Amino acid sequence: MEFKDFNFTDEVFDGLTAMRFEKATPVQQMTIPIIMKDKDLIACAQTGTGKTAAYLLPVLDKIVRKGHKGINTLVLVPTRELAIQIDQQMEGFGYFLDVSSTAIYGGNDSGEWARQKNALITGADIVIASPGRLIQHLTMGYVKMDQVQHLILDEADRMLDMGFVEDIKQIVSHLPKERQTLMFSATMPPKIRDLAREILKEPEEVSISISKPAEGILQAAYMVYDTQKIPLVNSLLKGKELSSIIVFSSTKLKVKEITRSLVKNGFNAKDIHSDLDQSERENVLREFKNRNLQILVATDIIARGIDIEKIDLVINFDVPRDAEDYVHRVGRTARAKTEGVALTFINEKEVTDFHSIEKLIEKDIFKVPLPAELGEAPEYNPGKFKSGRKKWGGKPKGKPKGKGFRKKPGGGDKPKTESK
Ligand code: AMP
Repeated sequence: MEFKDFNFTDEVFDGLTAMRFEKATPVQQMTIPIIMKDKDLIACAQTGTGKTAAYLLPVLDKIVRKGHKGINTLVLVPTRELAIQIDQQMEGFGYFLDVSSTAIYGGNDSGEWARQKNALITGADIVIASPGRLIQHLTMGYVKMDQVQHLILDEADRMLDMGFVEDIKQIVSHLPKERQTLMFSATMPPKIRDLAREILKEPEEVSISISKPAEGILQAAYMVYDTQKIPLVNSLLKGKELSSIIVFSSTKLKVKEITRSLVKNGFNAKDIHSDLDQSERENVLREFKNRNLQILVATDIIARGIDIEKIDLVINFDVPRDAEDYVHRVGRTARAKTEGVALTFINEKEVTDFHSIEKLIEKDIFKVPLPAELGEAPEYNPGKFKSGRKKWGGKPKGKPKGKGFRKKPGGGDKPKTESK
C-alpha cells in the first residue's frame, strides 16, 4: 500500500515526500484507515514499526482539513527522549503545514519551563508530553484542554510501568468526552486493557507483532565471567569499521566503567545516563545521531523509543532483566529495513534470564565461543543455573513489569531502575 492510497491532503503528502516515505509500513496500513474514520484504536506495536507516523499523519491530515483552535492533539509518552523524538518527526511532516507542536517534559531549567508554559498558553496544535510534567503545568491552571480532539497514548505499557496511571487518568479528566483516543503499546498486559476500557470507546484493535526482534537482526551471545566482559567489549570492537554502536548496561557505574575503558583504548565513546543533565544528554544523542560519535554507552533510559537509524551493532553488556527490554534494546538495530547485529554477554547468573528471552522470542540464540585469549568461559546450561538476581515484579504473564520504573516525586519522568 502506498501513501497516495490514503488520500491525504496535498500538504501532508508533500511532507511525506520530503521525508522520503513511499510505502506504508504494516502498522501504518492497518491503523491509518481506522484513525481517518475517527474510531478509537488500541494497537499492539513496538517501536521501529513506524507507529509514530501511523498516528501523526492522519491527525495532521484532519487538522489541515478541519482547521484548528487551541490544543488539538495530546500525545502522552513515557520519557522526555521519546517526546523530543516525536516532536522532531512532527517537524519533518509538518514542514509544509501551518501546524505547531511542542514537547513538554521534565528535568530541565527554568527557561525551558517558561518556554513550555508559553507554548501551552498559546495552544500549540500538537502537545507531546510526559504525564508528570503535564500535570505540573495543568495544576497551575493556564492549560486549556477543552479543544482537544485526539488523545494518543504512546508506549502505554511503559507509562504504566513508570507509575503514570493516575496521572493519565487525571489528565483525561481535563479532556472533552467527545474525542478520539488512540493507544499504542508494545505489550498488552491486563492493566493496559483495564485502562483501555476506562478511556477508550468501542476501540478497534490492531496487533502488529508479538514481541520479536525484526527479521534483519543477526543475534548472537557470549558466555562470560564478569571479569571478562570489559576485555570482550574491547576485543570485539578492535579494528571494526562500524560507525554506530550502542553498548547497553543496567547500571550507571558499569556504563561509566565501560566508557572509561573504551576511551582509554582509543575508541570514540561517550556515555549517557541520568547523572547527565538534559542538555548534556541531548548533546550526546545529537553527536551520536550525526555520526560524530562512534560508540554510545547507555543505561536503559534510551533503550525504548529512541529513534536512531542504522545502528550497526548493539551490545548488551548484561542480559536485560526483562525479556521485553531485550527486544527493545535489540530493536535499535535493523530499524525500518536496514540490517544490524545484536550481541549479548551472559554471565553464569544471567543464564536463566537469557533463557526466558529465548523463550519469548521463540529462538535459540547462537552462543559464540569466547576468544581464546580471554580464557575459559562458563557454560550455557539453563537447566543447571538458577537466576542469581532478585526479581521484583518480573514480567510477563499479567504482572506489571515492575522493574522499578516509578514516577519521581514531583512529576519527573526518569526510570528509577537506573541504579548506581
Ligand atoms: P517508529 O516506529 O515510529 O519509531 O519509526 C521507526 C523509523 O521508521 C523512523 O525512523 C521513521 O522515520 C521510519 N519510518 C516510519 N514509517 C516509514 C515509512 N513508511 N517509510 C520509511 N521509513 C519509515
